[in-house]
Order: sequence, then C-alpha cells, then structure tokens
Amino acid sequence: MLPTIVLVGRPNVGKSTLFNRLTKSRDALVADLPGLTRDRHYGRGIGGDKPFLVVDTGGFEPLVDSGILKEMAKQTLLAIDEADVVIFMVDGRNGLAPQDKVIADRLRKSQRPVLLAVNKTEGMQRAIVSAEFHELGLGDPLSISSAHGEGVRDLVELALADFPEPEPEEENDGSRTPKVAIVGRPNVGKSTLVNALLGQERVIAFDQPGTTRDSIHIDLERNGKHYTIIDTAGVRKRGKVFEAIEKFSVIKTIQAIEEANVAILVVDAQEGITEQDAHVAAYILEAGRALVVAINKWDGLKEDERDWIKREIDRKLQFLDFAKFHYISALRKKGLPELFTSVDGAYKAAMAKLSTPQLTRVLEDAIIQHQPPISKGIRPKLRYAHQGGSNPPIVVIHGNHVDGVKDSYKRYLEGVFRKAFQLTGTPLRVQFNQGA
Ligand code: GDP
Ligand code: GDP
Repeated sequence: MLPTIVLVGRPNVGKSTLFNRLTKSRDALVADLPGLTRDRHYGRGIGGDKPFLVVDTGGFEPLVDSGILKEMAKQTLLAIDEADVVIFMVDGRNGLAPQDKVIADRLRKSQRPVLLAVNKTEGMQRAIVSAEFHELGLGDPLSISSAHGEGVRDLVELALADFPEPEPEEENDGSRTPKVAIVGRPNVGKSTLVNALLGQERVIAFDQPGTTRDSIHIDLERNGKHYTIIDTAGVRKRGKVFEAIEKFSVIKTIQAIEEANVAILVVDAQEGITEQDAHVAAYILEAGRALVVAINKWDGLKEDERDWIKREIDRKLQFLDFAKFHYISALRKKGLPELFTSVDGAYKAAMAKLSTPQLTRVLEDAIIQHQPPISKGIRPKLRYAHQGGSNPPIVVIHGNHVDGVKDSYKRYLEGVFRKAFQLTGTPLRVQFNQGA
C-alpha cells in the first residue's frame, strides 16, 4: 500500500502549492493527451526514496454547515480518516487564525498522526514565526516554504519515516495469479459485476479487517484460470433491511489500482462519461496499469442512445485508445467471457518480455521510416533499446542528444513498439537514456 499523506488547512495557506511541488510529474506519459482530465486533488508523490499518495483537501471550512463547502468538509473528513499522515498547514505570514484551532481540534479527535507545517516562512525568523503555533497542541511546528521548496523535503521524510522503503519489484513473468481491480465511480455496477462473476449474491463478509479504505480481495476461477479480484465496491449490505454502508473513496480506488495488474474500469452507459470516470481512467494511466473498459448497463439502451454513448467515448476517453472496450450488462450477465478474454490479453501484454535485439531492430526500422526531428540544430541519435520494466512495459532507448527528442516523436515510437509487440491493453512507457 502506498502511504497516504493528506494536506489539510484553511484556504490560501498554500496546500495546492505544496501539492504541486510534491507531485510534479516525472514522466511526460500523461502530460497532454487529448481528453485527459486529471483530478488535481490526488497525486502520486515523488522525491525521496518512498513513493506515496498525496491528497489536497482544498479549502477546509469546518464551521460551514451547508452547500458545497459542507460537502467539501465531508470529503476532507473522509480523507483524514483514511490518511496515514496528515500535514496540517498554517500560514506563517498571517499568524494563527481561529479556524486553525477548530481544525486542530478535529485532527486531534481523528487520532491520525499529524505534522504541523508553518508555511510561507521564507526569509523569516523561523523560530519566532512558528512559536505561536505551539498553542495548537500538535507538537513542534515545522517551518516550510512551499513556494520556494524550503523544508519540504525534511517534512516529507519525517512524514514517511515510519514507512519501509518499497521492496524491489519481484520478477513477474506473468505466470502468477493476475490481480484485477474493478473500479469506477459509485453506481456504475461494480458490485453487480463482482456478483455476476462469482455467480451468486456474495455472502456479506462480517468483521472485514482494516479500515474503510481497504478493498476486498476475492479469488475467482474462470475456465480453469485463477484471478484475484480487488473489489473496491466493498462490503455492501443489500435488500430491504440493509442499505449501502460504504462511501465512495477515491483513496481506496487509487490504492486498488496501484496494487492491481489489470484494472477493469466500469462505466455507466446510461449516464454517459463523467469527469469522475475520466479521473479514475487518468489514475490507471498514471499508475501504468493494464486496462479493460466495461461499458455497463448496455441492456435496455435504444439504438440512438448507443450511438450517443459511443460518441461520448470517442470524445472523452480517447486517451484510452490502447485499451479494449466492452459493452456489457452485469445485471444480465452479458459480455463477461469477452471481457475476460481482454483481461487475459491485457495482462499478457503488460508482462510481455521484449528482447534487446528485437527492440533494437524495431527501433532501427522506425528510424528508417521517420528520423527523429532536428532539435536546436542537432538530430538526436538513437542507438539501441532494452526493456526497463513490466506492468507497464518500459522501453529504454539509449543514444545521444536524447533531450532533444520531441514528445510527438516519442509518441510515434510508442505506437511503433505497441504495434510491433502487439501490446494491446497496457500503457507503454518509452524513456531515453543519454550517452550509454
Ligand atoms: P491553498 O488554498 O491552501 O491551496 O493555497 P494555495 O497553494 O493556492 O496558495 C495561496 C497563496 O499563497 C498563493 O498566492 C500562493 O502563491 C501563496 N503561497 C503558497 N505557498 C507560499 C510560500 O511558501 N510563500 C509565500 N510567500 N507564498 C506562498
Ligand atoms: P456500484 O456502486 O458501482 O457497486 O453499483 P451497483 O452494482 O450497486 O449498481 C448500481 C445500480 O445499477 C443497481 O441498482 C444495479 O442493479 C444497477 N445495475 C448494475 N448493473 C446493471 C446493468 O448491467 N444493467 C442495468 N440496467 N442496471 C444495472
């Protein structure tokens, strides 16, 4: 599980500035694909040796009890509940505000570990600035400047101190049981799909270990093959006497995607593609997971409605063009065998072994077709390629002046490798290595 750091504080203290600094993309993979909309409140943190998930809770107005601000406060409280560490930000230039005390009280009640960060302290006498914040009773205030990056590294290291370094990925040659996460926004039919796959209404599990953000793992056997289903819909009590007890948790969804080999993104054909669908899709892409898209509730749609949703998909999910789309009905158990054929295919592609000679030959052919464009008077020279990882497959290209390789050319190469090795269903990363 990725440790989750949640940024909390009143508006304007600098949360999103810190968030941006922590999540600055190291990989242009998802930089500007048409149709991609990212949720700028959740990101993969970088810097240091430990990856983490960072959540910007936006403006927390704990005293407002209606409307959109109340909804935001609810989301913030949910995020705090699911945090491994909370970074509580205050504004060192404005000094202690009454709202800070209210938030501090809430945080104390949550019993989550909290670090108190006094922001905007660049050029100030740190000890003096932070002194007044001792009164919040959340331990020693740490002075930082999100805008200038001062103290940020220490803050993150402290936040993650209790978490182990990630273990090096064990070699997976694709022979292990695939982990398949079923993800999507609420009410698209995830639970119905899980139940359809299991062939029965699932027995409700009592006393599931862990917190609300933990997904449930289920063994599934289909046609003699085993899968571990990661069910983000969670423990759900159905029927008259039961009601939905689980809230939609973005953190849970992201954690499940991180853990999975393949994600099944479930979308509701009767509702169309929403921003939240696109956000979940963007996480899958960012995490590099193999993907199959299930357009659910296909039953009962008229011809013109089907045309409409297909146009929606073309328009809003173009950036998923590497994945297979299936039109299914979880309720009527339609389209499930085909869906799993694509899951198998996507897993295989994600785990594909690509040899250096083969990769290099494909690279050479690609260069003959199209040379890398000249950049600043110099043409990048690409010499050979080797595989740098799986799930997603990473192709590392060695050469000279590789900094000058344009994004469009990188995308061209991605397409060439994808086609040559039939990598349908998985993101593919092409990276460059200078001078080796
Ligand atoms: P949020 O509402 O908590 O997400 O706050 P923002 O990140 O949007 O920042 C609010 C304002 O504070 C912006 O004008 C930022 O440029 C400014 N700001 C953020 N961090 C710093 C900092 O470290 N020093 C200074 N001087 N200003 C900062
Ligand atoms: P979840 O929140 O994503 O787990 O969604 P549920 O599985 O609880 O489904 C939400 C609603 O959509 C329920 O009323 C389901 O009966 C309904 N539903 C799920 N799959 C289908 C489907 O394939 N067709 C139709 N018509 N309804 C469906």
